Amino acid sequence: MTNQTLLQQLASNPSCADDYDPNAMSVTQARQYIQQFLSPVQDSETISIKQALGRTLSTSVTSGLNVPGHDNSAMDGFAFRHAEATQPLQIVGTAFAGNPFTGELPAGGCVKIMTGAVIPSGVDTVVMQEHTATEGKMVTVLKIPAQGANIRLTGEDITIGQTVLARGHQIQPADMGLLASLGIAEIQVYRRLKVAFFSTGDELVSVGQPLQAGQIYDSNRYSLWGMLQALGVDVHDLGNVADDPDALEKTLLQAAAEHDVVITSGGVSVGEADFMKQLLAKHGQVLFWKINMKPGRPLAYGKIGQSHYFGLPGNPVSTMVTFYQFVQTALKNLMGSNTFSQPSFKVECVSAIKKAPGRTEFQRGILFKAGEDWKVKTTGEQGSGILSSMSQANCFIVLDDQTSTLAAGTLVEVQPFSGIC
Ligand code: AMP
Ligand code: MG
Repeated sequence: MTNQTLLQQLASNPSCADDYDPNAMSVTQARQYIQQFLSPVQDSETISIKQALGRTLSTSVTSGLNVPGHDNSAMDGFAFRHAEATQPLQIVGTAFAGNPFTGELPAGGCVKIMTGAVIPSGVDTVVMQEHTATEGKMVTVLKIPAQGANIRLTGEDITIGQTVLARGHQIQPADMGLLASLGIAEIQVYRRLKVAFFSTGDELVSVGQPLQAGQIYDSNRYSLWGMLQALGVDVHDLGNVADDPDALEKTLLQAAAEHDVVITSGGVSVGEADFMKQLLAKHGQVLFWKINMKPGRPLAYGKIGQSHYFGLPGNPVSTMVTFYQFVQTALKNLMGSNTFSQPSFKVECVSAIKKAPGRTEFQRGILFKAGEDWKVKTTGEQGSGILSSMSQANCFIVLDDQTSTLAAGTLVEVQPFSGIC
């Protein structure tokens, strides 16, 4: 069965597969279902390395150079023949980085050498300056290093023809330097993913406009904007759309026609989902799930034409949690990236945690340094509308469905929001 047929079947008849229950999906199952319907963009473009931060390589990069390109000194010191190290050596010249010593090394001679300078021919060892004593033109090696010491060998970092970055790698600052060190000015990357989103809800007002009674400011469009920008996709904010079938239909169809991915927030929970659900059923193959998680229970995923669709719950924390737990990895996959792993590790939680078994919870946590160790505490109230908890937090505390209330001092799994780059 093709992926497209499977999606069609699940969307039209959710009871068609034994192991598929849209009303009791685990986080892992939902990720797996989404994963099988994704295929990365194909088109690529050539860009300069300065523009490449966060972009995904569409072809692997091989080196046309050895790095280092020549044997060179790892120290400021003296270069000499190891066999002659027991006698005082005569300084016959100096080798600078970028300005090599080109003469012949006579018997009993040595060359004063700087870090990065080419190793003169005939030399097999470098001693650091601090381990020598100099008197006029003569040098005594006080502490004889092993033969070959302090010499960085040609190609010890990278050899000609070696693959340095694989297809699917997302470019980081170090890669930009690495590419430059190989003399590579341009690379081939997948085109940017085009992602559109809009909010749904009669109660929503855009910032800059006054609030009437019962209205709230639309915050999801801003957190979505930020999360999408951080991923380096081409982001299109289509505004907020009232719970009006015609407006929703028009926006949805246009968004799907022009973008690789469409994300909406709000309107997928049971009861008030009416318009969105009907529209999605009419125009696409969309799966509606109740996920065993908190926050972020309702989630919709599917395709509208060629476009992938994610329907996120409207509560501001739920929008962010479902984005990070499902959409982010899916987008990376569609971008052609092979870097999916989200690090998580265990630390002691200094707060007691309230939880009922049955659902995976993504509580908001603050990792902090206590003496020598990192520990975590919760941000306090964990309601799905408390967006300030996401703002204060620097990690999720991930509690699996089996876990119930925990006493302070228990080890918990955390997913940090950010690393060093
Ligand atoms: P819904 O998923 O549409 O039932 O919305 C759930 C809750 O989230 C409601 O309290 C909505 O008012 C709120 N909500 C929905 N969309 C947004 C948004 N874009 N910004 C802030 N709150 C929202
Ligand atoms: Mg709504």
